[in-house]
Amino acid sequence: MSIKKRRIVVKVGTSTLTNSEGRSDLRNMEKLARVLADVNNLGNEIILVSSGAIAVGAHKMRLPESPKELRMKQAAAAVGQSENMFLYDKFFGYYDKTVAQILLNGEDITHEEKKENLTNTFETLLEQGVIPIVNENDSVSYTEIESEEKLFSDNDVLSAVVAVLCKADLLVILSDIDGFYDKDPRFHKDANLLNRIEEINEDTYKLAGGAGSRRGTGGMKTKIQAAEMATTQGTSTLITNGKRPEVLYDIVEGKKVGTLFTAKK
Ligand code: ADP
Repeated sequence: MSIKKRRIVVKVGTSTLTNSEGRSDLRNMEKLARVLADVNNLGNEIILVSSGAIAVGAHKMRLPESPKELRMKQAAAAVGQSENMFLYDKFFGYYDKTVAQILLNGEDITHEEKKENLTNTFETLLEQGVIPIVNENDSVSYTEIESEEKLFSDNDVLSAVVAVLCKADLLVILSDIDGFYDKDPRFHKDANLLNRIEEINEDTYKLAGGAGSRRGTGGMKTKIQAAEMATTQGTSTLITNGKRPEVLYDIVEGKKVGTLFTAKK
């Protein structure tokens, strides 16, 4: 698969952006920015979908534990979002890249006029060589943050929505695990990595298990939902490990990494 000079949406989860203390993983964020800047320099258009705002904000506000109350989550999201953007701006800036912040709610995409404006904004930014960085607008939209489904999705589904909206060639979901296995590797030592999936059906969902890790929240289920949404609308989706952002070089060189869900059309 040659995916050179394509439009690529890259989604990073909380487990890639924060360390075991729940603070910003500066080394990994810096590496991610360097690799994405480089992949962009190779002629690919990049859109980054990034979460992690609540965890980072909670730490910065010195909250004793991860916030449970809605208003505290929204406050932490506001603090963490600006911290994340500050870091991205700085790290991408080292490599002469300009970033832009786009915060979205579900209704921005279901409302035709807003959707059109949004598409035009993305197109203009990409045309100008800017790297858009997208997150859910958690401080405004309580439906997003409070509904189990949205809160647990940790931006997996949002990344597919963005990929479809921007007609991306590829959606890369960076996780805390090498890809999609035939059973949860956390509990089964004999789990095997699945390299390629052409059809997402009920059996695929059965392999995905429940919600995910300590710091991440989506688990595999929401990644499969994202892959299903993207592939049925023409965007191939790859799930791989975000602890080594250099894997993106392998991806643009068409090497086999992680799990590839092939596009339907
Ligand atoms: P992230 O924060 O990167 O989005 P999550 O923690 O939300 O990651 O989801 C990844 C987790 O999903 C893995 O660490 C793994 O324990 C769990 N998981 C459940 N079923 C599977 C499966 N079939 N293959 C891979 N991982 C699985």
